Amino acid sequence: MARRCRHRELVPLAALISKELKGEKIERPCVRFGSAAQSRKGEDYFLVKTDCQRVHGNPNSTFSVFAVFDGHNGNAAAIFTRENLLSHVLGAIPRGISRDEWLQALPRALVAGFVKTDKEFQSRGETSGTTATFVIVDGWTITVASVGDSRCILDSQGGVVSLLTVDHRLEENAEERERVKASGGEVGRLSIVGGAEIGPLRCWPGGLCLSRSIGDMDVGEFIVPVPYVKQVKLSSAGGRLIIASDGIWDALPSEMAAKSCRGLPAELAAVQVVKEALRTRGLKDDTTCIVVDVIPPDNLVVTPPSSPKKMSKFKSFFRRRSRDSASKLTKKLSSVGIVEEIFEEGSAMLSERLGNESSSSVHTSAGLFMCAICQMDLAPSEGISVHAGSIFSTSSKPWEGPFLCASCRNKKDAMEGKRPSGFKGL
Ligand SMILES: [Zn+2]
Repeated sequence: MARRCRHRELVPLAALISKELKGEKIERPCVRFGSAAQSRKGEDYFLVKTDCQRVHGNPNSTFSVFAVFDGHNGNAAAIFTRENLLSHVLGAIPRGISRDEWLQALPRALVAGFVKTDKEFQSRGETSGTTATFVIVDGWTITVASVGDSRCILDSQGGVVSLLTVDHRLEENAEERERVKASGGEVGRLSIVGGAEIGPLRCWPGGLCLSRSIGDMDVGEFIVPVPYVKQVKLSSAGGRLIIASDGIWDALPSEMAAKSCRGLPAELAAVQVVKEALRTRGLKDDTTCIVVDVIPPDNLVVTPPSSPKKMSKFKSFFRRRSRDSASKLTKKLSSVGIVEEIFEEGSAMLSERLGNESSSSVHTSAGLFMCAICQMDLAPSEGISVHAGSIFSTSSKPWEGPFLCASCRNKKDAMEGKRPSGFKGL
């Protein structure tokens, strides 16, 4: 269970702002959580781990992981992913780097970890698949990686609800439909006798409604495990995350889920959200919910800003970290008042997600001769740049890393529709 945080003393937001401006260190937040689930098919799994350490043996480097896995066509992929995804992600982060570098390395490591987990699971020859919504909480920084339609929402101080994931459902994601079609898949509804079409949009072969997942070796390789990743930094007022499978989201819009549990401690909040979903829709699907409160540390409670503004669009709520000459003062103020958006990328193309070795600041020496996905050692002659084109196309940077082993390179080509069959072969 999470540590207790007692609310003793109220500190006005203005005091915190001035504290930050004076350069005083605001302590690490307190993380409290609760979970609740109702099973129908037994294919939902979740992971809670609050004692991870960036630096082994250093309790000051502790971070937490929360994840939901909603399996389909069996539970094997969900179980395998729960058991392996975290270590595959951590295994892709260079050693001996600072906290800032570690946070910067996370988006790439998440992509590598997701793809490696998918590859490993498929090599077992089992046919099930799973969504994965994987959340890392380190201090006030939240990093979310997700494939499928298990969402993570953020209810920040001030009552603004925002989505930290995108839904990889063919029905709702036009961009993903285009990608799947461009990679050789077909998108359409199920046809019944007489030609009538029913149900949500699915991809063929396979008939899956999702455009991204882990596992699913019996559908086309264009159903990729490359996650959408978003990294934000909460203000020192904190916020609440709600991570849940579609059993919740098919019953409750994000706003309603957030509202239904406001004011409750995390443990009760998770139970309340599940209860609310069941009340609305009944138990039609596995329903899993984790509520995570990232709040100011012991005896420090921030009074929320008065009269929160409602924003019609989620996007407008975020302030991107400015790379221009904005003064430090403005930057600090913005990071206290609203959530700071640090990173966001959803492309399914590995060459875009793994970046250039030369442009990534973190220690490249170790990575040069290591596969960027499976972390296998490569002989100098063996690695193929992630940027190298096929024999039919020329790439601008075929000599730059990161590099992939032959097997991971094969997978990359298949995901992008460059392998003739388009099926997941082994
Ligand atoms: Zn590899």
